[in-house]
Amino acid sequence: MRDATKSVHHPKISEEGYAALGVPTHRASTIVFPDAEAYATRSQRDLDGYSYGLHGTPTQRVLEAQLTALENGLKTVILPSGQAAIAVVLLSCLKPGDHVLVADNAYPPVIGLCRNFLEPRGIAWSVFEPGIGAGIEDVVRDNTRLIWMESPGSTTMEIEDVPAITAIAKRRGILTGIDNTWATPLLFKPLDHGVDFSMQAMTKYPGGHSDLLMGSVSVNDLELRKALRDTMRMLGFGVSPDAVQLVLRGMETMAVRLAHVGRVAGEIAAELESRGVGPVLFPALASSPGHAIWKRDFTGASGLFSVVLPAAHEARLDAALNGLRYFAIGASWGGTRSLIAPMSVKTSRQMPHPHKDRIILRVNIGVEDPSDLREDLDGFFTALAG
Ligand SMILES: *Cc1c(COP(=O)(O)O)cnc(C)c1O
Repeated sequence: MRDATKSVHHPKISEEGYAALGVPTHRASTIVFPDAEAYATRSQRDLDGYSYGLHGTPTQRVLEAQLTALENGLKTVILPSGQAAIAVVLLSCLKPGDHVLVADNAYPPVIGLCRNFLEPRGIAWSVFEPGIGAGIEDVVRDNTRLIWMESPGSTTMEIEDVPAITAIAKRRGILTGIDNTWATPLLFKPLDHGVDFSMQAMTKYPGGHSDLLMGSVSVNDLELRKALRDTMRMLGFGVSPDAVQLVLRGMETMAVRLAHVGRVAGEIAAELESRGVGPVLFPALASSPGHAIWKRDFTGASGLFSVVLPAAHEARLDAALNGLRYFAIGASWGGTRSLIAPMSVKTSRQMPHPHKDRIILRVNIGVEDPSDLREDLDGFFTALAG
């Protein structure tokens, strides 16, 4: 072997006695094969096997298996973002002529996908009232193929009656999917409640540090998993093993982070409600319309809630935001830092909503000292009240 060849052929070394707790980052585009036959038959490899880096390396397989275990599922796919995960679910099961029912409180880019991508390609869509429960029966159509839920909903925090919806969907032969980003599989396990596609934006709590983008979809059915993987392959969707490694690392502390932010958010939300800063939207509050269902189906709360800003306080919002010391102004939640984001559902909601014309402050509780957060919020709401 000459020098240039030695430079590219890595010597085999012993790994005997080497054991570490972290998951190795296996980077690859090219996968090589031990012999000609293995290469020729590579397309027959199991979907859990290896044929090209785009379809995953052992690093991705560890995350898929870990999520599958948390979700009580059979298989999981991972996507470059939460929105990509939603898009791949919809594209994997909808064809021209089909109809999809979407919760009116869904993450707004889902409505954009329906209106601007699916509809021009002959796939019909309509929204349903998040509190509809068994009333879903009245709005499904003969060609409804998928019901897409989100509970609690982005910003407005309504809880959906998932078991009631999936029972009817199963009877009618309709698939169901849910965006479970707020709860993560630690606080709600959609597949246990009859949902076919359990999706989460791992950008939020699993990543947990505001520095990566990823999504996942877990299923209990090998055919659905194959359709997801086929769609991903055709669209060229894969994730970087480096980002996967960060998610695996973030997930090690997810349970303690969630327990902490859920407790602090619960306390702060209740304090803000009794202070009367405006309606507080959080399913863990007894005043929340979805509270009973949340208590029945969820094992806890995460750290995201909303406060509806009274119209009379709107003029002072910018000054109050600029006075924040610990809360950052930002929308993508689920990390270690506390955030406030002024949101509006005016353009994303298709149906009437009591707070459609209001600014809704979305609050993400991070892992700072709760006393600093209380002090900051006290100053903020005092400034808002004028
Ligand atoms: C952030 C978020 C998404 C999208 O995730 P990205 O990784 O940002 O694409 C989807 N649904 C919910 C509820 C989210 O909060």
